[in-house]
Amino acid sequence: MMRLFFGTIMKKLIILVIVVGLAGTVVYLNRQGGASPQPVAISGTTMGTSYHIKLVPVTGQNIDSATLKQKIDARLTEIDAEMSTYKEDSDVSRFNRTITTDWQNVNEETLSVLASAAAISQLSRGAFDITVGKLVNLWGFGPTVNLDDIPPADKITHLLADVGYAKVELRKNPPAIKKSDPNVTIDLSAIAKGYAVDAVAKLLLEEQQPNFLVEIGGEIITHGFKQNHKCWVIGIESPVADQHSVRKRLYLEDVAMATSGDYRNYFERNGVRYSHTIDPTTGYPIKHRLASVTVIEQSCMRADALATALMVMGPDRGMAFAERHQLAIFMLVKQNDSFIAKHSTAFTPYLTVKEVQ
Ligand code: FAD
Repeated sequence: MMRLFFGTIMKKLIILVIVVGLAGTVVYLNRQGGASPQPVAISGTTMGTSYHIKLVPVTGQNIDSATLKQKIDARLTEIDAEMSTYKEDSDVSRFNRTITTDWQNVNEETLSVLASAAAISQLSRGAFDITVGKLVNLWGFGPTVNLDDIPPADKITHLLADVGYAKVELRKNPPAIKKSDPNVTIDLSAIAKGYAVDAVAKLLLEEQQPNFLVEIGGEIITHGFKQNHKCWVIGIESPVADQHSVRKRLYLEDVAMATSGDYRNYFERNGVRYSHTIDPTTGYPIKHRLASVTVIEQSCMRADALATALMVMGPDRGMAFAERHQLAIFMLVKQNDSFIAKHSTAFTPYLTVKEVQ
């Protein structure tokens, strides 16, 4: 079986997934022998990164993969059009451009993601905060030009005044959001990709596909089994730039997984690394030894947002937070020239091979 590294255009932590397929095309794999049905791979691009899906049809089922790919692409385009800060005409970009403090209508889907973001912000006491977008852009990690330089301290202080997740109010009916501070803006980059993974998984189940792995920009969800009724096996890679070695193999069954790291999307100045995760209390990129954190949850959206929150908290505060809330997390922490692995109690079951009945 060909082994592919699933990287993402967005330099996200590369997750090794053992699949067979060619990016951007639908591949119906002619495999020799074996009673188990042949797998189907569907892939493409979305949200500035790539997506890869592997399906294992139930016996006797024929998959019209071209039609399925069209439905998947249409669904991802819909989410992108609502939640992107890279599209001028998205709901989020339109909201960001206004300075009104009146209610602004949004669709229910965007409101549901904003409500989940607010819940993770409250749970993490503001470590996860979608209102850091202007600082993300100032540091060169957003849609604007990549400066790769340290912004002036007074600019950081000025924009920090616009940060605060409580400055975005949500209304359920009719669905709407409003700014309590006219200068606040939102950036869903740390949660909406996870949401998109969940949305594609829901679409596949509606299309009577029970066995699949969906990966978008490094966020993953698995359902059912891969061939021969085996559990999906996902590798976490050592967080070393430009290297791809598997650090840990995980056995996932009907769960989602998201990883955030500081070693793909960063720049260095005077020996100091500045990565794309911003501490909302300082306005600066995180400054600690946590290189990557992987979170396993039922929902990929929640795993995605929690991974960013834990990256902000760092190794000690993050692990204490995970144990307090029984979160399944796996950390790689820098130690001299290597990394030490730490995982929470709730993560242990994913480290052992599952004999599937
Ligand atoms: P994660 O660790 O998951 O998230 C880090 C990102 O979260 C940062 O880049 C920043 O945006 C944000 N963030 C930083 N600190 C915090 C914090 N404390 N709390 C909350 N959020 C924080 N990229 C492109 O280049 N082109 C595109 O066209 C494009 N379109 C997109 C459309 C959508 C709908 C989304 C959601 C993202 C899009 N992106 C695009 C961005 C890209 O897909 C990734 O989302 C981005 O690189 C961050 O994802 P990650 O998984 O790499 O990092």
